[in-house]
Amino acid sequence: MGVNGIFRKRRSVQSDIAHAEAAEVNRFEPSRLPDAHERLAMLNDFEESGLGWFWATDSQGRLTYISDSAARKVGMKRDRLIGSQLTSLFVCDTIAQAEGERPLVFMLNSHSRIVEKSVQLSCDKEIWWSVSAKPKLDSAGNFLGYRGSAKDVTTSRASERDASRLAEYDSLTGLANRHRMVKRLETTLSAYKAAKRSCALIMIDLDRFKQVNDTLGHPAGDELLKQVAQRLLRIVDKRGEIGRLGGDEFQVILPDIDDRGTLGELAARIIQMISQPYSIEGTRAIIGTSAGIAIAPYDGIDSGELAKAADLALYAAKGGGRGQYRFYSSDLKDEAEERREIEEELRDALHRGELEMHYQPFVGAEDHMVKGFEALMRWNHPERGPVSPSQFIPIAEEGNLIIELGKWALRKACEDAKSWPADLRVAVNVSAVQFSMADFPNVVANALALSGLDPRCLELEITESVLVDTDAVNEMIKQLRGLGVRLSLDDFGTGYSSLGYLSKVRFDKIKIDQSFVRGSTEAETSKSAIISAVVSLGRAMDMEITAEGVEAMDELALVKDRGATHVQGYIFCKAITQQEVVEKLASGDFGYEPHGPEKHRSDRRTLLRRVGVIHEDHHYDAVMRNLSKTGAMIEGLLNVPVGTDLVLDLGGGQLAVATVRRSEETVQGVEFETPLISDGADGLVTRHRVSPYALAAAGMPLAALPPGHYQPPDQPKSLPKFMQIELSFGPQN
Ligand code: C2E
Ligand code: CA
Ligand code: CA
Repeated sequence: MGVNGIFRKRRSVQSDIAHAEAAEVNRFEPSRLPDAHERLAMLNDFEESGLGWFWATDSQGRLTYISDSAARKVGMKRDRLIGSQLTSLFVCDTIAQAEGERPLVFMLNSHSRIVEKSVQLSCDKEIWWSVSAKPKLDSAGNFLGYRGSAKDVTTSRASERDASRLAEYDSLTGLANRHRMVKRLETTLSAYKAAKRSCALIMIDLDRFKQVNDTLGHPAGDELLKQVAQRLLRIVDKRGEIGRLGGDEFQVILPDIDDRGTLGELAARIIQMISQPYSIEGTRAIIGTSAGIAIAPYDGIDSGELAKAADLALYAAKGGGRGQYRFYSSDLKDEAEERREIEEELRDALHRGELEMHYQPFVGAEDHMVKGFEALMRWNHPERGPVSPSQFIPIAEEGNLIIELGKWALRKACEDAKSWPADLRVAVNVSAVQFSMADFPNVVANALALSGLDPRCLELEITESVLVDTDAVNEMIKQLRGLGVRLSLDDFGTGYSSLGYLSKVRFDKIKIDQSFVRGSTEAETSKSAIISAVVSLGRAMDMEITAEGVEAMDELALVKDRGATHVQGYIFCKAITQQEVVEKLASGDFGYEPHGPEKHRSDRRTLLRRVGVIHEDHHYDAVMRNLSKTGAMIEGLLNVPVGTDLVLDLGGGQLAVATVRRSEETVQGVEFETPLISDGADGLVTRHRVSPYALAAAGMPLAALPPGHYQPPDQPKSLPKFMQIELSFGPQN
């Protein structure tokens, strides 16, 4: 309600206060002061100058005096203001609650002294006053009203606000900066703790951003970050606040979301959208991203704890290969620490002879005769055992260690291949980091010269992930072609393959990524159609097409039927040592027999894991043998009837309601009421978890969910219905 409204209501009492006004003005009685006349004149001048005004109220908070110029500022006649409530001059919010301060109304009601309190005037324009006042008391200490002053602070407030905008927002992308995000997370979480609400945090880090910066230059890097910010804004929309924490690190705060299904979908969408090609100053660039997700109060109660959890999840996502998201779980190791250790140790691994090259054959699709081998790096760590290249290659790429490793791999592979029959080829994986180094053609030429290998026997496998269409890249390809080596496009289909680019740069071979081969024979998949499309594209351009990752007979039949020219996969052979290669070739038998399951089996994971089973008020221990989205196989309870409803405790607050569908002695097949969802990697998790608040209500201290199983607080009242069988935690059969 504006001043006018209030005033209209108050009109009836106006005559009463006319007297009060007279009385108030009398308190400024000039004759009581020596040079009173002059002082009054000065005050008048001051009031007219607009630098500040005076006002006074009676004990009821009604205005008894206000400077004429102040009334003009408010846009009303002074006479009409007199008698109205002082508070009616101001916008309600600002008198009720200025952030972290005591509200003006509260101060007025408690007759406290007011010092430079900022309030907004309730009028058409945005005007801010800073108000100060002292309570007036009579000799008996009774409150008589306020006598105060005010000044206009609109402009200084605006510039303060600009300054705080600068301090809170990232000037490049316009997103919130780290400072603001930290503050936002803190205030949200402390408010949500009281309200027992949940809040999710997604940490996002671009993959290989450094490379874009290095190859295309910093201005292009900046442009890319801006476009990434735009895409994030479009995806997240009003669901949360996005910030850039610095460099290529982004963060999203999502209040009131705790459904991991929804969050996983959002993260997958973020990854998918960010991985789409960018056009920067006419150049195509591709980057990827990884994301880590943590949810309060489950994974952390306060902001520091939650941010740490999201960070750990992010590192786990990066560690699992790129372009993934991962949920935090309490058994995640500190992967950041682990990555640093691996990088350290990898530096020495080469000199300590811990690295080896192994070779996986690729065969003709029709005759199953070996045509060559792909060189795959192996690291036998003295303590960790074999470390997977999908784990250490990305780490090596980040520290630029890949240059040295890559050079070694190329030399070793050429040297080994030199001892094979002359018509067999060796395929060597080339990291995009190596590819961006101007002297890479020299590295290749040296490896060829040192080994004496025929360039036509060397195939370079390049992933399309950072095939940027720049002069530098095109020049590089020209030089490599000039050396006479073959070029192969690896992992085809995983990035955003530019078909236009394929027509510009000639590749000798396309390798269809295993993710399209695996499961291509299942109904309801577009994978086989994609394989057909790639094959016809390759054939039209006179390229070889290798289907990689073929494991089952039905997959082999499918890729052959669709016209792949070469096949690589466990169905023929895993990667073997140079010695094994030499022995195989020496035997004169160049053929491979397919060995594998008849059919590709869908994602049933065989695993052994201890779980809890809750039935009525009893808690049993069981071993889970098999887990899929829709159900599990458990062992440990004897003769549970079909149709029994149970709750499986999967640990970390994950309770899944399930019904027994099959039961044979100690083994039960159960079906989940709500399907599980992917944790972003190989794992499955429940959408929701038991809230720490619920546990706190049951007497546990309020803390993020611990790993293990949920312990029911009460002693069971009934007798257990089922008999529990002790099982050894050994391997399956
Ligand atoms: P990639 O280039 O896609 O290599 C194929 C990977 O698939 C290899 O994994 C291989 O062992 C695996 N594989 C082959 N057939 C099958 C199959 O039927 N089923 C399954 N499940 N897997 C199959 P690996 O050796 O672990 O290498 C992983 C990745 O590490 C490679 O993926 C490549 O990107 C990278 N890498 C390996 N060695 C080098 C290297 O010397 N230099 C560079 N830059 N990267 C390398
Ligand atoms: Ca490869
Ligand atoms: Ca591949």
